[in-house]
Amino acid sequence: METVRGLHHVTAISGPAQENVDFYAGVLGMRLVKKSVNQDDPGTYHLFYADAEGHPGTDLTFFPWPQMAPSRAGYGLSTEVSLAVPPGSLVFWSGRLQKFGVRLHGAEVRFGEHALGFDDPHGLRLALVESGSSLGRPFTSWLGSPVPAEHQIRGLEGARMSERNLGLTSQFLENAMGFQHLGTEGEWHRYGAAGGSSGRYVDLREMPSAPRGAWGTGSIHHLAWRVDEEAHQNAVRASVETAGAHPTPVIDRFWFKSVYFKEPGGVLFELATDDPGFAVDEDPKHLGEALVLPPWLEAERAAIEAALPEVVMPGSD
Ligand code: ZN
Repeated sequence: METVRGLHHVTAISGPAQENVDFYAGVLGMRLVKKSVNQDDPGTYHLFYADAEGHPGTDLTFFPWPQMAPSRAGYGLSTEVSLAVPPGSLVFWSGRLQKFGVRLHGAEVRFGEHALGFDDPHGLRLALVESGSSLGRPFTSWLGSPVPAEHQIRGLEGARMSERNLGLTSQFLENAMGFQHLGTEGEWHRYGAAGGSSGRYVDLREMPSAPRGAWGTGSIHHLAWRVDEEAHQNAVRASVETAGAHPTPVIDRFWFKSVYFKEPGGVLFELATDDPGFAVDEDPKHLGEALVLPPWLEAERAAIEAALPEVVMPGSD
């Protein structure tokens, strides 16, 4: 059985880039580790937020597409990403988010862990989860963060997906990607990546009578799952193809190698390698400060920079 290692990154669609930077760097205190462009649409930023070193499994990324309509709720979408914080941190976070006017959905307990749900400024649903396993993860605190190191976001915890047919997706996760069913709580069915140390969880909900969801601002665009290196990536790619998915060839994203496919319910998945990582093309001390382009777009740098809106880093509060 080929098994992914948990979430590598989650990519979502945001509104204006500056508002996205202000929220994820300024309010959530994550480090902007890479400022690049969408490689298929170089007039759009691709912004990456993570821990100080950009460890795989800590990374939330955005395409700011402010001209898009808002996300349309329904099946076939990943509808929430959760982020791990250290046990005991939610009191701090609840106060901080309210100070910035963030609308909270209230505290809850999910599969035994305390969680706090809220929306980002463009409607992306997020949750902070007090994760007992978060303290053992590879994590480097970000000294430039407005959030004290002991409360900083440790990385990705999990994602939620809404499906028209639970069985099709759950069988695919179990048989082609190595997930295990961990439990059911209310309408949510939890699956875990057996070998993962970060972002192990995906929670599925069946919505047979809902309409098909559609991407828009506030949508999760795709969930990327960790693979060790190219041999492991090829093995998982073959496994999902055998199970009926239609994976792309391996695409070089420069900081990792990627394969994309849709799971049977329509959610876009990616398989991303851990290496080489974000320090391959920037000094680790200065990650995210300059616009980084893949080599094949360098010749168009002047035109690309002219088309992108200026973004400035938020000041400390
Ligand atoms: Zn991706």
